[in-house]
Amino acid sequence: MSVVSSVCCYCGTGCGVLIESDAGKITGVRGDPAHPANLGKLCTKGSTLALSAQAFGRALYPELRADKASSRQRVSWDAALDHAAERFAAIIREHGPDAVGFYISGQLQTEDYYVFNKLAKGLIGTNNVDTNSRLCMSSAVSGYKATLGADAPPGCYDDIDHAGTLFITGSNTAFAHPILFRRIEAARRANPDQKLIVVDPRRTDTAVEADLHLAILPGTDVALYHAMLNVMLWEELIDRDYIAAHTDGWEKLRETVREYTPEKVATICGVAAADIVQAARWFAAGPTLSMYCQGLNQSTCGVDKNATLINLHLATGNIGKPGAAPLSLTGQPNAMGGREVGGMAHLLSAHRDMANPEHRAEVARLWGVDSVPEQPGKTAIEMFEAVRKGEIKALWISCTNPAQSLPNQKLVQEALQAAEFVVVQEAFVDTETVQFADLLLPAATWGESDGTVTNSERRISRMRAAVAPPGEARPDCRAVVEFAWKLGDALGRDGKRLFPYTCPEDVFNEHRESTRGRDLDITGLSYAMLDAGPQQWPLPQGATTGKPRLYEDGVFPTRQGRAHFYNAPYRPTAEPINAQFPLHLNTGRLRDQWHGMSRTGLVSRLYAHVEEPLLSMNSQDMQRRQLHDGDLVRVKSRRGSLVIKVQASEELRGGQTFIPMHWGGRFMAGMGVNALTLDAVDPVSKQPELKHAAVQVEKVTLPYRRTIMRRGDGATLLRLAQPYIGRFDYASVGLTGRDNTVLVFETASVGPLPESLVQEMDAAFGLDDPLLTMNYQDARRGIWKKARVENGVITGARLSGETAARDWLKSLIADGVPAMEVRNWLLAPVEQPPDGQVGRGRIVCNCHNVAEPDIVAAIAGGADLAALQGTLKCGTECGSCVPELKRMIATNRAAA
Ligand code: SF4
Repeated sequence: MSVVSSVCCYCGTGCGVLIESDAGKITGVRGDPAHPANLGKLCTKGSTLALSAQAFGRALYPELRADKASSRQRVSWDAALDHAAERFAAIIREHGPDAVGFYISGQLQTEDYYVFNKLAKGLIGTNNVDTNSRLCMSSAVSGYKATLGADAPPGCYDDIDHAGTLFITGSNTAFAHPILFRRIEAARRANPDQKLIVVDPRRTDTAVEADLHLAILPGTDVALYHAMLNVMLWEELIDRDYIAAHTDGWEKLRETVREYTPEKVATICGVAAADIVQAARWFAAGPTLSMYCQGLNQSTCGVDKNATLINLHLATGNIGKPGAAPLSLTGQPNAMGGREVGGMAHLLSAHRDMANPEHRAEVARLWGVDSVPEQPGKTAIEMFEAVRKGEIKALWISCTNPAQSLPNQKLVQEALQAAEFVVVQEAFVDTETVQFADLLLPAATWGESDGTVTNSERRISRMRAAVAPPGEARPDCRAVVEFAWKLGDALGRDGKRLFPYTCPEDVFNEHRESTRGRDLDITGLSYAMLDAGPQQWPLPQGATTGKPRLYEDGVFPTRQGRAHFYNAPYRPTAEPINAQFPLHLNTGRLRDQWHGMSRTGLVSRLYAHVEEPLLSMNSQDMQRRQLHDGDLVRVKSRRGSLVIKVQASEELRGGQTFIPMHWGGRFMAGMGVNALTLDAVDPVSKQPELKHAAVQVEKVTLPYRRTIMRRGDGATLLRLAQPYIGRFDYASVGLTGRDNTVLVFETASVGPLPESLVQEMDAAFGLDDPLLTMNYQDARRGIWKKARVENGVITGARLSGETAARDWLKSLIADGVPAMEVRNWLLAPVEQPPDGQVGRGRIVCNCHNVAEPDIVAAIAGGADLAALQGTLKCGTECGSCVPELKRMIATNRAAA
């Protein structure tokens, strides 16, 4: 067995991992105790990375289709890249460089990002290169630049320990950045006086932990921050010396915030004025560390939210010292690295600005080209709109899944259908976007390629290959460099001179040189130095270590060296609720899934916490609509609709609903949650308002329910379900099980299905073999059930017309229970078999496989957190479930 140190490929916490491999296969993953981001800890997602690495469902060979009506056929890499180069060159020659575009990803390594950026801006001459970071962090980027002068998070994770107040706003850190939340829990245990304020419309597990939860109405953050500043002014809590010495723009802002009294803003935000006053006092007392994420960024006033939060830090001098900083939490593992190389439509290498002619000339000089184009390229939403209109004719998509993740999916999928030529460079063959690929290029993924990534605290780490990629999959960087050579030849440009790299380290060294003299200068850094451990930037030549905190001297990277106060009025969400669409829809993360589920969606135990798409809704809103848990509802916005199960949630205030961001058209009928979301963007950052839409919810009656359950390989079974999902009004597809994987494919329709479709689906899922299948049919009542038994074990079932046995059957199939024990009851209409073999219920602790009913029973018996951990072991491994355990203790005690 060999062990390689690397980094988790999910969130921007950037946890170090040790990858174990044997005979070319990844066999295990542990937290790296030497990595300062996590000191050996991993959350449920990180700790199951080895399982996802072993999953099937990988893209193995390049595939090309002759035309849109044909299916893709396997081709060689040479033929694939020759074809891509010819198509791109022909389009560029005929329509100009802006007729092509690249939509890339915050999950790429910095070296990949660098070559994509240089390919577009240096070789082709278009700025049409943008990334899914546009959906994630671009408002944070613009907020930093507008106030502090550079896109540089000033704080670090150690500040969690030094802070007197932690101000978490627009972030469910307990789910989205679990290992940082473990640090927060530890800091609060060590310092019981430390205050935690959480601003979030939902009472999330993060909010439950808070000393003060401000459950503001969606999108009212700017009003809240202004009101807090108003209190600070009124109560003389501001740092006048700091303001005078290090900032400008104070007078104008002071006039603006005078209007935002706590009493007035209490009405706007829907919180008590006294709570606003309390938040302002604790914030000003400091030292205060703010941590924030998509609740601020994914908004049509996302830059205003980011910048007015930073106002609070500047006004109270809460910046540049231990425990005091604004610290944006990056959603993706390398959104930061992409920003460093300028891999977006409006940026240039090393935090240079496209609008600045000197910066453009510097980059052209560094790259050895005559010029880089002046006009900003198309940002994510603009890019797909341009594709739809035919302005962009060839689109290269790498390491991202826009057919799931972009808002207003109807338009996005129309664009992908309309494009002349779509290249998808992807590791997983079944994502929603791959179906649109004219050319599929199989990509190496986590554990298979070398490079660097930067986490939320500016810390650069080496990502390392532990095994070779499967089939003919290749690292992205290598594929792009070879494409650049071929495209250079086709365009009569010297691609080989521009892309002389033989390995990722060559690319890193060129990127490093581009940072010389810039705010993120890493000219003192090398792969060799990173081999000794990760480092924060800046780290200029001669330095031996990076800088944990920025702006300690109060000098900012602006023309006058002063930070700018940002003066903006509060603006409401883009789409107001009204009589037709009376409910707010919020989107966000689940604890155990990540983004579009292309990787986590292959690991059955990651469905244990939440197994299917659900709309969460306040119980009183449900009562008013006569809805009960599990009912099917149609959720409709101005752009589209979907049918989904509803569940009551006391996390939500009246008038608000929530759907996790992860569920796309691969896991439910329709186009997933982003059929509903809004593509209106912030005017500065161009980030769309994914966090808010106005919706209506109505009950739907689809009485004919069916469930197919089948044991096997998750990726293969998920693929089998794909042709059928769209044929039902309601469909949900997911996995269950721990040691065995079981597909659960649930559908609902107005009446029984045509016999031909039933037989087709039975055959697809191996439920048609009479020698292996038990059969029960009551044609008069429309009930028809089957169970597949192999070697005495139940391996599949299909329940039609009556599905009472679904839950316990699902557990029996996953657990491999002998069929003899329940043979007489397999097809009976009972919610549990007579011997009491009920399903275990929802799994709360994934590490130790502890189910909710067992925890509730222990709490009813008087167990506190320590007792639960001692007896059931839940919450003792990764700790991701600890906030939920605390909430369950509080809720069950209150109900007792
Ligand atoms: Fe990965 Fe979890 Fe760490 Fe994020 S917190 S980097 S998902 S292990």
